[in-house]
Parts: sequence; C-alpha cells; structure tokens
Amino acid sequence: MMSDFAPPIDDIRFVLDEIVDLPGLAKLSRFGHAEPDLVQALVEEAGRFAAEVVAPLNAVGDRVHSRRNPDGTVTTPPGFAAAYRQYVDAGWGSVPFPAEYGGGDLPGLVATAIAELVASSSLSFSLCPGLTQGAIHLLLAHGDPDLQATYLPKLISGEWTGTMNLTEPDAGSDVGAVRTKAVPAGNRTWRITGQKIFITYGDHDMAANIVHLVLARAPGAPAGTRGISCFVVPKRLVGPDGSPGEPNAVKCVSLEQKLGIHASPTCVLDFDGAVGYLVGEEHQGMRAMFTMMNNARLLVGVQGLAVASRAYRQAAEYARQRRQGKAVGATEPSPIVEHPDVRRMLLTQKASIEALRALAYTVAEAIDISEEDPDPDRRAAQRERVDLLIPVVKGWGTDMGVEVASLALQVHGGAGYIEETGAAQHLRDARITPIYEGTNGIQAIDLVLRKLPIRGGGAVDDLLADIQATANAAEREHPSLASIGDTLTAAVADLRTATAHLTAASTTDALAGATPFLRMAGLVAGGWMMSRQAVAARRRLDAGDGDPAFLAAKVVTARFYCEQMLPAARGHLAAVLAPADDLLAVAADVL
Ligand SMILES: Cc1cc2nc3c(=O)[nH]c(=O)nc-3n(C[C@H](O)[C@H](O)[C@H](O)COP(=O)(O)OP(=O)(O)OC[C@H]3O[C@@H](n4cnc5c(N)ncnc54)[C@H](O)[C@@H]3O)c2cc1C
Repeated sequence: MMSDFAPPIDDIRFVLDEIVDLPGLAKLSRFGHAEPDLVQALVEEAGRFAAEVVAPLNAVGDRVHSRRNPDGTVTTPPGFAAAYRQYVDAGWGSVPFPAEYGGGDLPGLVATAIAELVASSSLSFSLCPGLTQGAIHLLLAHGDPDLQATYLPKLISGEWTGTMNLTEPDAGSDVGAVRTKAVPAGNRTWRITGQKIFITYGDHDMAANIVHLVLARAPGAPAGTRGISCFVVPKRLVGPDGSPGEPNAVKCVSLEQKLGIHASPTCVLDFDGAVGYLVGEEHQGMRAMFTMMNNARLLVGVQGLAVASRAYRQAAEYARQRRQGKAVGATEPSPIVEHPDVRRMLLTQKASIEALRALAYTVAEAIDISEEDPDPDRRAAQRERVDLLIPVVKGWGTDMGVEVASLALQVHGGAGYIEETGAAQHLRDARITPIYEGTNGIQAIDLVLRKLPIRGGGAVDDLLADIQATANAAEREHPSLASIGDTLTAAVADLRTATAHLTAASTTDALAGATPFLRMAGLVAGGWMMSRQAVAARRRLDAGDGDPAFLAAKVVTARFYCEQMLPAARGHLAAVLAPADDLLAVAADVL
C-alpha cells in the first residue's frame, strides 16, 4: 500500500489564519501585495503541485537513486528533471525574492509553507531548490553588483541551481579547518583547488548551470574561521552574453551511497584550479555564511516537519484500514485505529507536527519582520527571537521528524518494516535532517553558549515571559483549557531553572547539559504554540466559525500535548542540572 500525498492544507491554513499575522506582514511595504487571500490561494496551488507533480516521484527516486555515469555526468531518477522544469515554469522558487531580480516579493513565511509542501512530497527533490535558496540569500546579502546581476536572475528563476560547499574530509562540524585553497588570478578572478565532500546536488541534469558557493582559504589567511573566504564557482563559465559556456575545472568524482534521500545526488567535488569569484570581503566568508544560516536551518527544521507530516498522514490512513484484534466491546476484528495504544501513537504524531508547524511558521514570520519592519526596535526584537529559536526549530524539529517517522512506521506493524509500504523510506529520509546544516549537538551548543547570553539573558527572559503570558491567557479563556495553562506554567518554571543554571555554569557543564536543554526548550516552545492554537480553536468553536470536528480536534490535541507530552520537559531537567563529571569520568577507551 503506497499512500498518496494529501497536502495538509487545512492545518497550514489554520496556522496562517490564527498563529501568524498575515495582514500585519501585508502592511510592510515590500509585502504590500501579500493579501491573505492571495497567500492562501498560492499555498493551495503549491499543495496541488506537490501532490500531483512531485509526490509521485518519491518512491521512484528512492528505488532508482541518482547515478554517476562513466563520463562523469550525473543523472537524476526518471521524472526529476521534468518535474523541476515545471517547478521553474510555475515560479515556485522565486516567491520570496526581490522583484528587482524577478522574484515575487512575498514574505519568507509564504516560501516556508511552500517548502513544507514540496519537502513532504519528496525530500530528495526539495533539496535542489532548497540549496539554491541558500545561495540566493548569500549573494543578495554579500555579492557585488556584477555577481548579483550575473547570477541572481537565473538562480531566482531556478534556471540555474545553487550548492553550498563547506564540508571537507577533515572539516565537518569544525568548518574553520577548511583547507581548499584560493589563489588570486587577476582580473578579479581566483583559482580554487581542493576537495569538497557530501555536496548536495553538486552535479545533476536538471539545470543548465550550477552555481557553487565554496569556502576556501586565500594565501596568508589567518587560521580558523577568521581565515575563510567565500567564492562563486560556476559549473560552466558564464560568457559575456550571460549564458553558460566552457566547463569550469570542477568535477563530481563520486556519489555517496546513503541510508536515505537516494534521489538527491551527494557528491564528492574536485576543484582543480577552478575559476572563482570572491563573494564579500576576503577572510569574511564565515560572516557571509552566517547571514544565510538562519534561513537554511529553518528550512531543515521544516524538512523534519514535512517528512513527519507525510509519514503521519500515511500512518493514520493505514490505521483506519488495517483490521486486527478486537477493540473493547467489539465482536468483529476492529480497525487498529480503535485501539487506545494506536491512538496514542497517532495523537503523539499529530501533536508533535502541529506544535512544530506553528513554531516554524512563527520563526519564518519573525525573520520577515526582522528584515522589513520600518521600526528598528521591532526589527531588533524579532531578530533576537529568531536567533534564539533557530537552533530549537532545527534541533528539536528534526529530532521530532525522526521520532514521528519512526512512530508512523510502528503503526504499520511488520508492514512498516517492508519497503513496499513506503513508511520505511520516510524514516530513512528523515534521518539525515538531525545531521546536516550543523548536527543537532552543534545546535544545542549554539543555543546554550551563544544564544542564551543574548542581551545578558534579556532575550530568553522575554521569550519565557511571552510563553507565560500565553499560559495565563489559556487559563483565563475557558475552563476546558485550564490544564493547558497549568502544565505550561509548570514547564516554563522548569525551563527558567534550567536556563539560570546553564547561564551560570562552567563551560564544560554547559556543554554537557546542552542537548537535554534543547529538548526541554523544544517541548516548552511546542507547548506555547499548542496553547495558542487551543485558544484560537476554542474561540472559533464558540463563535460557530469553522468545522467543529476539526476545531475540537485542535483543542484535544493541544490538551494531549500539554498534559501528556510536555511534562517530559521536567524529565530532562536532571540531565541539564547534572555536572559533566560522570560523562567525563569513564575513560574514553572503556566507553
Ligand atoms: C546526505 C548529506 C548531505 C550533505 N550536504 C552537504 C552540503 O550540501 N554541503 C556541505 O557543505 N555539507 C553537506 N553535508 C555535510 C554535513 O553538513 C556534515 O556531515 C555535518 O556538518 C557533520 O560533519 P561531519 O560529518 O564531519 O561530522 P563530525 O563533525 O565529525 O561530527 C561527528 C559527531 O561529533 C559531534 N561533534 C563534532 N564536533 C563537536 C563539538 N565541538 N562538540 C560536540 N560535539 C561535536 C557531532 O555532533 C557528531 O555527532 C552533507 C552530509 C550528508 C550526509
């Protein structure tokens, strides 16, 4: 049974209507035409595109894989290139970018909803436009006018695609260890030499050119991250008329065989004196990367959400059809959806997804405000909020993606473990998301060491105060929401204790407590979002505004999350508060 993809448009619409403020974004001058009706229509159309054009490729891509041919070219699975052409023709990739370069000038929030739908339909497919967006953000922020004029229109239209080349065999989490060399070659060009590994869509047959953004070290560069520069290295050199010409000296020397995302070509790229162009200032490459990192990490959190959502909907459908065992009181075999334990698995998935979607979209909206609001104080406040929550969305979101995909497989029983069902692919595909774009361990360290100290702890204090205000509002709203307010209040208090402890702890103890802290922060941020959704759904129920079954399910799912999942936050507190001693006491050779 290979379930079709049914886009969760109603759930997305609920978040767009109730959790973020679309009319508020439409008041910002760049987004003036982003009327809520237009946005909702676009999202619906994206859902149709994802379901009809991309989703049918997901299983094929998993079976066939991308392959490297004897002549060194790379071929994606059947249907990928044609679907990508349709993606480009429909203009999906251009949605959030400036009209000046052919973009749609719509909020990044809208692009986030579209990205969710495309990643749900095929994570492998979505990575190509996803990486391209990263390259665009980087060039918009740091490219000189020549580079922007040459590359942005083609990247924004999607005619050309982009890659991010950071990783090398000895430079993974420690990007500062990059050894690829860049030597000035006159006429504003450089020659790039070295090997990059794990480069997503580093070569493929879906576009006329590939624009590699490559981190490399210029002569005399200081050691570490402060000595890294960023270069544009096109697969084909761009002629004076703007079209791709001679091949550059960059080759895909092999493709990795992987656990999942088989259709996405993961390349070892060899740069052999390839022509490159400096982006931004020499030695400032990491600074440039940081400007696109929030967007890229949000996108990966959304990938966790997207795969979870697809896996869950398939599991729910299976549970409605599969008959096994008799539910209490039944005389005939029951659909397994009638068993309380299966209900628990499904509701856990549904709650995780709804919490995560609301959080990810809230962060996307905050990015838009931080970039476009005319009020500098509001921009700064939202910027802080984004910086604080990005590691949570990426880390907690992708951990949830894997857990939900695993639960979705479990709902299928033995059939889930059999490839034909498709449940196994979701789990295999999801598993990369906690690893790339900074492992989740690195996200946790970023949260604790770099983000908690923002404004002397003021940013996290403000966040905790906002969450507490939501808990209070839930309690005031309706007696049926009282337990949501209570449990969220208790969890905020625990997170406050954990925050105070880590802020005062030694660096070693803070590093030791980082991952359980990130998990706590994710659970509490999820509770915040579920409380807001419960209040909104309750109001609409009382006003008779909307489908009562859909809205009642929102309230129950939020209560389930807050009463039965959120208390796990307290369970992580002991690990946050524990010193590193025991972790370090066991000798490395007996671990
Ligand atoms: C399918 C796939 C696609 C990818 N796509 C791209 C791409 O397009 N472009 C690109 O540049 N890279 C890409 N990557 C690389 C990816 O970003 C790295 O694999 C990732 O950053 C981790 O680096 P590493 O593999 O060297 O692991 P390591 O850095 O060796 O980490 C191993 C483990 O040690 C932990 N660790 C490492 N350092 C620390 C520390 N200081 N403190 C605590 N824990 C630590 C990590 O959390 C991890 O659990 C891709 C990887 C894969 C598998």
